[in-house]
Amino acid sequence: MARYTDAVCRLCRREGQKLFLKGEKCYTDKCPVARREYAPGQHGRARKKMSEYGLQLREKQKARRIYGVLEKQFRNYFDKASKQSGVTGENLLAILESRLDNVVYRMGLGTSRAEARQLVRHGHITVNGRRVNIPSYLLSVNDVVALAEQSRGTKRIEEVLDITSGRTVPNWLDFDSDKLTATVVGVPTKEDLDVEIQEHLIVELYSK
Ligand code: SF4
Repeated sequence: MARYTDAVCRLCRREGQKLFLKGEKCYTDKCPVARREYAPGQHGRARKKMSEYGLQLREKQKARRIYGVLEKQFRNYFDKASKQSGVTGENLLAILESRLDNVVYRMGLGTSRAEARQLVRHGHITVNGRRVNIPSYLLSVNDVVALAEQSRGTKRIEEVLDITSGRTVPNWLDFDSDKLTATVVGVPTKEDLDVEIQEHLIVELYSK
């Protein structure tokens, strides 16, 4: 499986805002976004007026980076969203939010989406009682996501739950903090996101 392996803080600096890709470090003053408010690289400090295309491209890249999705898969999500009834941009956000790794993150089982993805890949997560190790698995209404029985009570899980205890679980998930399960009870909407994404710019980009 292809994935981005370079320094992730560069991605936040490129987008000019915190994307919360690193977990605990993102909430400390070690976060490079606050310390170096310019894009990485040789021309990072150059002031450039962004074209309309540039704005659309940056918004798409930002969304991709937040959810850790490569270009091809992101484009596939867009195609799927455009074939669904309703508003394409909203459908796209709902698809991204419905990924299993994102749901595990929103349950507070990972300090970052990357950590949540690793939990899934390593077989610590079940869906409807069956182990699922595919981070991109798309959940539907009534699916029940849980931490596998053998993975409960580990030191790291306890640490993570402590760190994420103040995180708000979105309304479309019915989260049981004692059992560490979440039932999908609705479709995610833009209001449920924990990040700001202007999805109409992404739709405009792909509709050219
Ligand atoms: Fe982004 Fe977190 Fe790195 Fe800050 S610490 S630049 S928010 S990944």
